[in-house]
Order: sequence, then C-alpha cells, then structure tokens
Amino acid sequence: MADLLIGQTLSFGGDPFAEGAEAARHSARGGVLVEGGMIRAVGEADDLRRAHPQARVTDYGDALISAGFIDAHVHYPQTAMIASWGKRLIDWLNSYTFPEEMRFADKSYAADIAGRYFDLTLANGTTTVCSYATIHPESVDAFFEAAQLRGLRAYAGKTCMDRNAPDGLCDTPQTAYDDSKRLLQKWHGHDRLSYVITPRFSPTSTPEQLMAMGALWREHPECLMQTHLSEQTDEVEWVKSLFPQSRDYLDTYETQGLLGEGALFGHAIYLTDREIDRIRETGAALVHCPTSNTFIGSGLFPTAAMIARGIRVGLATDTGGGSSFSMLRTMAAAYEIGQLRGSALHPSQLWWLATVGSARSLRADSRIGNLAPGMEADITVIDLASTPAIAQRSARARDIWEAIFPTIMMGDDRATRAVWVGGKQAV
Ligand SMILES: [Zn+2]
Repeated sequence: MADLLIGQTLSFGGDPFAEGAEAARHSARGGVLVEGGMIRAVGEADDLRRAHPQARVTDYGDALISAGFIDAHVHYPQTAMIASWGKRLIDWLNSYTFPEEMRFADKSYAADIAGRYFDLTLANGTTTVCSYATIHPESVDAFFEAAQLRGLRAYAGKTCMDRNAPDGLCDTPQTAYDDSKRLLQKWHGHDRLSYVITPRFSPTSTPEQLMAMGALWREHPECLMQTHLSEQTDEVEWVKSLFPQSRDYLDTYETQGLLGEGALFGHAIYLTDREIDRIRETGAALVHCPTSNTFIGSGLFPTAAMIARGIRVGLATDTGGGSSFSMLRTMAAAYEIGQLRGSALHPSQLWWLATVGSARSLRADSRIGNLAPGMEADITVIDLASTPAIAQRSARARDIWEAIFPTIMMGDDRATRAVWVGGKQAV
C-alpha cells in the first residue's frame, strides 16, 4: 500500500552554493508519495490526494518533511565516550579512544554499542551514516548486523592501524588486507550496506599498510575509501616527520593509490594549494566535521571556499570527537565556523550539506539525500517549533528560511517528529 506524507516539504532542484536559495523547492502544503520503499511522487498535497485516493495519509501539519540526514564521517565505537574532556587529537586518541576501541574485540559489546548508536542517530533524524569501526572484524559485523536489522543504507569499514597504537589495536599490512577483503566480500552490496576501505590515517599506518589498502581499493573500485587528513597542525608536522619523502600529507595517500573519486577525507583543514588542486582533479571528497573541530580545538574548515574551488564537501558529526549525534547541532556548528571565517552559510546551504552534499560525498546522491521520484524513501520529519524558545522565534518567521533557522541553531532530537527508513516508519 502507498503512503502519502503531508506537511511542509523541502527538497533541492540544484546546489544552493551555486544557485542560491532558489535551488531549494519548498511547499507549504506538500506531499510525498511512498511505495515499495521508494519515493514515487513529490508535489502539492491536494494534487497527490486526488491522484492517489487509495494511499494511506499521514498528515504532519506544519512540520517539515525532508530527506533524512546523512552523516558522512563517524566512529560508532566512540558512542559511549562522546564528550570526554580536555584533550587535543593525539592525547585524546591515547587517553579515551584507544582504550574504548580495545573493548570491541568482544562481539557482544560491539553489538550493544552498535544498537545504541543507531537508536541515537535515528532519534536525531539521521538515516545514513558512514562509520569507522575498530580493527576488530567483530566490530564491522556488529555495525552491519544492526544496520541491516533496521533496513538502513549504511557504510562502514574495519579501521586499519599497524603502528603508533596499543598492541591490542594493531594489525599488519597482510592481516589488514585479508580481514578487509573478507569483510568487503561478506557485506558490500548486501541489502543496503556498503563496505568502505578504512586506513585510520597516515600516523597509524606504515607505508606498507597504506600500499596494501591501495591494492585492495584497485581490486574493488566500487567501494569508497575513507581516512583522515590534516586535522591539526601538530598532526601535519608529525606526518612530515614520519614520511620525510612525501611532498605533503595528501601525498602519503596519493603515492599508495589512496586518492581517487571514491576517496573521503575527514577534516582536511590545513591543505596546501597542491593538495586542494589534486583533490579537485581526482574528484575526491572532503568531509567537514564542525563540532569535532571546535571540540578538539582543530581549526576552521573553509566550507564555502572549498566548494567554490569545485570540491565535493559532505557534513558529519565525527562522533565521538564531535560533541553531538545531531545533524542540526552540526549544521549550527558549521554556521558558526563559517561566521568565524567571514562567510555566513545560508540555511539552504546548511540543509543541503546535511542531505544532498553528504550524499554526493558518498557518491550516493542518485539514491539518497533528496526528495524526488525514484529516490529511496529515507525521510525525516522535523518539528519547527519543538521547544518554547524555538517556537516563539519561528512564529515570527516571514519565510521558510526564517522558520527553519532557529531549529538549525537551537534544535536537537526533540525536533524529530518522525523518521521513515526504506519507506517504513522507524521513529
Ligand atoms: Zn574521525
């Protein structure tokens, strides 16, 4: 049976960074027709009602119906240690992250956290995430089993590290290759699941391990490859000392075959002109993690400038380096960082980054991230008056963007009115 969701609808016919807010399509009384897990039609509510009288109607009133949020860079194993105080990147990894990641050798612990993680992200309106697991194959199985159970389109890979990490968290070039390949064959393309080749970052991988990951990616170019790049200045200096032969940080990946269209580089705050040019030429994507960048004190990613230079940019929480599971809170942080860099991102641009932009970074924008016929029916319904503070401000709004912006800046999981995953209501 078809479902007809009615409310305010927001989708994108183009890119608001290139075309302005007119790239967005808003209807004050719109509808989305869902059948067989897919979006069949988007239009005016009355027209769709007339055309599909048999459809089961869910009327969300003034709430905003949008594509579900897409979080393009997370570490689900860090769920239970989010908001850990007072460290910068390397100390933060050693003090909090690595001890927690050790626990994921235990499959039942990994399964417990994976379930908890998806419950939290769905409650925040996030319908797709791209996650790092830990070095343990069990942590990848736990993630995909939990995603599969919920019918989610989800991305993840085994995190590979063979140096500068505790013994219990190190693999080798060969075991990283073998385990990754086995997990890729087990999960990639099953239901809505995608395997992602995942060396953590150059400081924790030898050139031999990066080379092994490059070899695996050449054999499986249908997969994405994710890693970290130039997050903090101390880290960039460390990479220089670990790879004296390399032209720059990106080159440590490039020379091992880890730069290309399906590459996702998290953070990428401190790039040289050569690195920016190569990222654009190869079609790789950058993922902006604003709450993480302020929380760990990393720096200010130049979102508008990178997009203006022709680079694909996604948006992400970087849980648990980031301080929130909410993509609303993440949009707010992106806005604040934009302000500190002298460019105020428009609400249409922030919403686009959290949906279409992230989908493009995952090369999945033909399937998810927008409301349009033929797209998968992952839909989030947002209450634009979810708290008294937000309600009194949005009541004064003169247009849709003034109505949405208070929720972007002050909203959280209380704003999630409903979530549909693969055409079925999940929240
Ligand atoms: Zn990260």
